Amino acid sequence: LDRSQLPDLIPRYARVNTLKIDVDSAVKELEKLYKVQKDETVPDLLVMPPRSDLHAHPLVMNGRIFLQGKASSMVAAALQPEAGWDVLDACSAPGNKTVHLAALMKGQGKVIACELNEERLKRLEQTVKLSGATNIKVVHGDFLSLNPQDPSYAKVRAILLDPSCSGSGTVTNRLDHLLPSHSADNTKYDAMRLHKLAVFQKKALAHALSFPQVERVVYSTCSIHQIENEDVVSSALPLASSLGFELATPFPQWQRRGLPVVEGSEHLLRMDPVEDKEGFFIALFTKTNKVDSPDS
Ligand code: SAM
Repeated sequence: LDRSQLPDLIPRYARVNTLKIDVDSAVKELEKLYKVQKDETVPDLLVMPPRSDLHAHPLVMNGRIFLQGKASSMVAAALQPEAGWDVLDACSAPGNKTVHLAALMKGQGKVIACELNEERLKRLEQTVKLSGATNIKVVHGDFLSLNPQDPSYAKVRAILLDPSCSGSGTVTNRLDHLLPSHSADNTKYDAMRLHKLAVFQKKALAHALSFPQVERVVYSTCSIHQIENEDVVSSALPLASSLGFELATPFPQWQRRGLPVVEGSEHLLRMDPVEDKEGFFIALFTKTNKVDSPDS
């Protein structure tokens, strides 16, 4: 496998931005160019043959569809935010999942999109503008510094946490590791980097679970490493259960679940870099018997 073969292997996905166009109208338009199917897992996601090139298509240019992969589109769908809720996207740029949340909420309620990196914040703002959503509030800052007790977050019911990760599940990343230049030094560096990422991921997940009214938290990575996936979930389980959270099963019909190294791994969702074309991980925490606090 080399880079030049990639475009022949990977189907092209487009998520319909239902804030601007309905699925059937988008299909009708795209069918003029390519064979279009509706994805069997994610509502509003369309699948086209490898090498379909939509980058300059008017539907893309005007934000009616987003060229968003399947795994990425599964995260907001797994969270199932309800119209009218306050929802927080913790690490949000470039904002593909943020605007998906807004679409799932039918433009009602509020999406708070937090992003630390100033350059990436600009891309987030462009994505938000392109989506046509008017209920997204962009916050420039460190998610770990957001105070869960701040009244701005008092009504947050769902959090999407898609933190920085190694990206080891992405095709380009896997190809880079096959290059002869990938030396033992790289491998040592990789281990240190993974450890650092995992420390942040664990902190961020614990922080997400600690918002007072949150009842759903989805955690995702485009990594294949246990240390960034099952191990992060495992580290959060004692806190999660003390707060009344359980692992829920996103997309129960999906066959590939978590590595059996943590209690409840059958609830976790994995995508395989070879079989599913990209490596990805999703965990969903939900509070089932939510007890309203006396002052709420
Ligand atoms: N969810 C995004 C999407 O689907 O378009 C992709 C998010 S990307 C995997 C992770 C993002 O988290 C990066 O933009 C990174 O700058 C941001 N980030 C990293 N550390 C952060 C922190 N402490 N607080 C907020 N954002 C952070």
